[in-house]
Amino acid sequence: MTRPAAPILLLLATLLLAGPAAAATPKAAASAGASAPRAGGFRLPSDIRPTSEDVRLDLDPSKPDYAGSVSIRLTIANATKLVRLHAEDMTLAAIEFSSVGADGAPGPLIAVTAAPGEHGLLTLTAARRLKPGTYRLVIRFTNDFNAQATSLYRLKSGDDWYAFTQFEADDAREAFPCFDEPEFKIPWNVIVVAPVDHLVIGNTPIESESVEGGKKTVVFKTTKPLPSYLIALSSGSLETVPIEGLGVPGRVVTVKGQSQLALEAARITPMLVSALESYFGRPYPYEKLDLVAVPEFWPGAMENAGQITFADRVLLLDPAHASTQQRLSQASITAHELAHMWFGDLVTMRWWDDLWLNESFASWMGEKVTHQVFPEYGIELGLVTDTDEAMRTDGKLTTRAIRQPVNSMANLLQSADVLAYNKGETLLGMFEQWAGEELFRNGVRDYLAAHAWGNATASDLFAALSHSTGKDLGTPMSSFLDQAGLPLVSVEALPDGRVRLTQERFLPAGAVRQAPQVWQIPMTLKFDDGSGPREQNVLLTQTSQVFDLGVKKLDWIAPNGGAWGYYRWKLSSRAMALLADDAAKTLNARERMEYAYDARALLEVGALRADGYLQMLPRFLRDPEPLVVAAAMDGLEGIRDPLITPDLEEPFARYVRAAITPPVERFGRTARPGEAETVSLIRPRLLQSLADEGQDPGTRAFGDSVAAVMLKDPSAVDAGLYMPAVRIAGLSGNAELRDQFRTRFESAASPAMRRVWLEALGALRDPKLVQENLDYALSGPLKPQEIGSVARGVNSYPPNRDLTWNWMRKNYDTIMKRVPPMYAAFLPYYAGGCSQPRLAEAETFFAEPAHAAPGTAKELAKVAEGVNDCVELRAREGARVKAFLSGSGTAGVP
Ligand SMILES: [Zn+2]
Repeated sequence: MTRPAAPILLLLATLLLAGPAAAATPKAAASAGASAPRAGGFRLPSDIRPTSEDVRLDLDPSKPDYAGSVSIRLTIANATKLVRLHAEDMTLAAIEFSSVGADGAPGPLIAVTAAPGEHGLLTLTAARRLKPGTYRLVIRFTNDFNAQATSLYRLKSGDDWYAFTQFEADDAREAFPCFDEPEFKIPWNVIVVAPVDHLVIGNTPIESESVEGGKKTVVFKTTKPLPSYLIALSSGSLETVPIEGLGVPGRVVTVKGQSQLALEAARITPMLVSALESYFGRPYPYEKLDLVAVPEFWPGAMENAGQITFADRVLLLDPAHASTQQRLSQASITAHELAHMWFGDLVTMRWWDDLWLNESFASWMGEKVTHQVFPEYGIELGLVTDTDEAMRTDGKLTTRAIRQPVNSMANLLQSADVLAYNKGETLLGMFEQWAGEELFRNGVRDYLAAHAWGNATASDLFAALSHSTGKDLGTPMSSFLDQAGLPLVSVEALPDGRVRLTQERFLPAGAVRQAPQVWQIPMTLKFDDGSGPREQNVLLTQTSQVFDLGVKKLDWIAPNGGAWGYYRWKLSSRAMALLADDAAKTLNARERMEYAYDARALLEVGALRADGYLQMLPRFLRDPEPLVVAAAMDGLEGIRDPLITPDLEEPFARYVRAAITPPVERFGRTARPGEAETVSLIRPRLLQSLADEGQDPGTRAFGDSVAAVMLKDPSAVDAGLYMPAVRIAGLSGNAELRDQFRTRFESAASPAMRRVWLEALGALRDPKLVQENLDYALSGPLKPQEIGSVARGVNSYPPNRDLTWNWMRKNYDTIMKRVPPMYAAFLPYYAGGCSQPRLAEAETFFAEPAHAAPGTAKELAKVAEGVNDCVELRAREGARVKAFLSGSGTAGVP
């Protein structure tokens, strides 16, 4: 799965919390003996296992409900009267249970009673003791389609009704009875009865199709062994575009009227599949490949075997009018999901405690092949930003160890956060660099070969990697996986040329240090003794160690050569300044990005002063490499909330204009023929910042004029300018402009343009319009996953944050009806920023039992830490910022 792009209603989709508490609890658990559920009832016992499941569904999405049946073959290893599986919030019409003879024929029925339990658990109690052997369980049921874009759900697009699915992690059990855990990988036989004009898509090709009584029955071929969370169905008036050049049949699938937007996805997919096949040394594992664009969808995409589903705005784009950012997202998310076909689908995690590995491997692999196929997007540099994002989360006290037991729904929800994706991705990259790319790849191949079609754990992967690379990866890896937080390495150059490295946990300013933590850190030291730069790898395993680099003196040292390491570092302020001065000569682009991020982190924890930081930042904003400029922009944008109080807006605007005008002039306001793709990634941010924080009249006029042209004819404008233009226009936009944005949003011809106009609504600054737009987010024709978008846009301007906070509080119940329950945990996001009074209100609000959805307390704690750190930074550095900015206007911009 790919995370949705933006925060709140944010993280992963679909790690849905348990539905309404079930009426009855499982009976007679005490007598269950060997087949007691593991992990306190959260996990099914392992001695009763399904071996195959037949599912038959009668789906007409124009109706709110559907009927179905399942026939599950299972084996019982230890005598018991209890059989547990999952079936959540559905009406069970009939249950038949029987043994299966050696000839495969079912024996006489055995009476069973059924009792629902928590988390969708269904416990069957047999009238007599069941001997070890093979059994068949048939359940007929009726159920409502879900309406919140999870599980088996329906939606209307245009005049047509469609059915889609989204099961990860535990929503298959809401669609039909099953053993809904990743360990149970079985062949599935799926039959769907659908309206005769529907195209029905499953995980496998169609075996046969027949029409009777105005309905058609579609029988799919038996699947390869799959866990329930990878089963998928789509049904409706779907259109298809063939994908040519795969070793198996392939299609891009859209709802009616959108197939003209599918060509780009069809073009890039074979290149990505081919790159993955070469890396893994195995062909694409399934019989066909459909990529389906779904209008209502919470995650970016989902790796169902043979049928990958996507948020439509990710997969569909008009190549003539798509920005570089859109094309990059499309390629990178597609590559991530395709990587899962091998890593996640062919070999599946045994349990959700390895979800981090599933996701971080797909992210790491996806970025690797996207970079290979499309080097022009600068992904190798973009990874430095992913790493910083993980380290920012991991540098807080509210972080957690990435690898943790999953024994409750709250854990499962938490196990798919930014750390699971980005920290794991960085760790894989760091250890790959340390062990060598080819040897590392051989280990991955060995791992897939050993566990193909089955399940495995992280330990299995580390064993394979250690074997292939001849290095113990498990021990150092564990030091990063099983400890919360990340190391800060202090680097001291000794007079004799040696270097002393000292590690401690990287902690926020003023944090009380708990027990000392030690990591085993593979570090690449880059240095020069006057004879030219060189590198040496060391493994720092102690709190403090001295390393001999084979030189007599050090002119300079960069402690994270290549910027592959997962650690922050600091040098003496003199050595730091020296490195920054010579960065253009001594550091490569990745290292310069990492330097800019590291400096920001040091500022936040009190190891670097704000005036020094403001002095340094423009140097990186003038860097020749656009993505280094982007890293510096992260820092510039990050200053605003904590450090720029209203009295500093004018001097800060002067600083921003002085710092950003040079790169804007260098890159140009509009695209130039033959320019690097990475320029168009950074241009929107430069323009927005110059117009907004920089208050630059010329850039504002430019944005307004581009937006005016867009309103008449978007095709007359470079797609890379859509977002900056509407955001700049929103700064001073009035009700008339708002109405135009709204009209365009409601009539948008493509998912991408719909997104642009929705963002435009969130960009308006006038508080009265903001209020009206927030109300519209709930009353207008927005899809469930869109209703947070306006508020997110509003929140980019700190003075309007109270408006979104009050909106969320006032409409809490309405919001809760529109979004799946798991998202309730993320609503404390609206109390974020730099205001302790707002935080205090949030603590009162979420303390009420009616607002305390599972997981909320943890999210609120993270928000509280962010707010308190922001306030602390303002108190600590505010005076220095004021002195610096007010001193002589642009003083400090060299
Ligand atoms: Zn994924």
